[in-house]
Amino acid sequence: MQKNKITIEAIDWQPNKNSKIPLYQQIIDYISKKITSGAWLINDIIPSQRELANKFKVNRSTIVYALDELIAYGILETESGSGTKVANNTWSLLYNDNNLNWKTYINAGEFIENIPTIQIINELEFKDYIRLSTGELAPKLFPLQKFQKISSLLTNKITSLNYLGPLGLLELREELVKHLAKVNIKATTDNILITSGSLQALQLLSIAMIKPNAKVYTETPTYLKSLQLFQSAKINLKGIEMDQEGIKYWQINKDNNDSTFLYTIPDFHNPTGITCSLTRREELLKFAQANQLAIIEDSAYTELYIDEQPPPSLKSLDNSNQVLYLGTASKSLAPGLRVGWIVGPESIIKRLGDVKMQIDYGASSMSQWLMYEFFHSGEYDNHLQNIRQELKKRRDEILSFLNENFNKHASWTIPKGGFYIYIQFNQKISIETLFKKALHKKILLNPGNIYDYKDNNAIRVSYVYEDIETLKESLLVILKLIKSEEKQGK
Ligand code: PMP
Repeated sequence: MQKNKITIEAIDWQPNKNSKIPLYQQIIDYISKKITSGAWLINDIIPSQRELANKFKVNRSTIVYALDELIAYGILETESGSGTKVANNTWSLLYNDNNLNWKTYINAGEFIENIPTIQIINELEFKDYIRLSTGELAPKLFPLQKFQKISSLLTNKITSLNYLGPLGLLELREELVKHLAKVNIKATTDNILITSGSLQALQLLSIAMIKPNAKVYTETPTYLKSLQLFQSAKINLKGIEMDQEGIKYWQINKDNNDSTFLYTIPDFHNPTGITCSLTRREELLKFAQANQLAIIEDSAYTELYIDEQPPPSLKSLDNSNQVLYLGTASKSLAPGLRVGWIVGPESIIKRLGDVKMQIDYGASSMSQWLMYEFFHSGEYDNHLQNIRQELKKRRDEILSFLNENFNKHASWTIPKGGFYIYIQFNQKISIETLFKKALHKKILLNPGNIYDYKDNNAIRVSYVYEDIETLKESLLVILKLIKSEEKQGK
């Protein structure tokens, strides 16, 4: 991987010689801040000791002392031949001025930390960067007036905000029963558990229903690979290729483990945008039945169709009760509500509800009431109509822009809904180098390899977050970077 070197000229700071804080400590604080703010990234090479000593007008030994301290905490790392590099950006926990060594604690639990690229994305999304790939609606697409109307209706309805029962707000589950019936999913309120977003549904499944070492098959690439939820529960994720029709289910090699699952996103897949065809859905269900394979169907984007409704869900086609269905308000309305739902057999829902009670005693009652009222008032469906129009406008503009500018350099699938265009570059380029170079141009992108089981040549572009003009401008910057990578590759 090509490394970025921080030049001494980029440093515009001097320690304060009149301060009571020792010089070495000021230098530690300065470097730590640069790292936590995201200005210096993991693997960046910092200037040499000599350069730093000259710049800060201090003795070389002061620099050595400060750097040794940062190395001891695992924040910096010396690499023979190339110098000292940034190794970790969670310094605030590692670096502590009492004697407790947090380093031995920090990764002692089972839960695996995010991969560095995702840590960087999570941090920089809230700084001054253009977000080329963000998977949520632009703030201005939030239906503020509807929200205000609904909130005022609620003040007359909510009489307390106490804990709710294990499956969540009954009124909301009743609305969901009606909502799901519109897409031919038959459920009773006992078949539905309200979760804190779909992420929590995935976590509940991973800790409560899947044996360690069991396999979970997924499409490759897939959203699930970008998380460490399943891996933390010691579950083996196995990627299965896709074509334009969806997952090549026949490549699944089901063993006898009795908690094997297939996790699939049939509609407007994250990250590829592919929608599974009806034939492939029917075949997949037959295969799952013949092989006793349970399915987690993630429908996060289903309602965000542009051209036409996607084919019927696996859940609605399933007559052998093999599908667990995940829904969420995050993509269509507001991720900050943290409201999702899982639909499945009563016994499974009860079990997951019991685990959920032990974890957080229920999703926010306030959010559940809001979601209830959005459904009940009909405003949710009205909002979806508006969003679909906006999605169409944005998708079409970006597609014609790509056709004009990226044709010679990349290919992509035309999404029929959802948020993403997955751009695959023709020539082999280092996607990590592209990520870093884009960061230095103040553009934040999701490289395809965070979703994949192998290195890949792709980026996920979202047409729903930034303004179209900003998107176009930043895509032109990316194109320039790609062209220079292509030249270097020749
Ligand atoms: N599933 C898919 C396919 C997603 O893309 C996301 C969000 N990126 C989620 C689930 C999680 O969403 P939430 O927890 O906000 O409902």
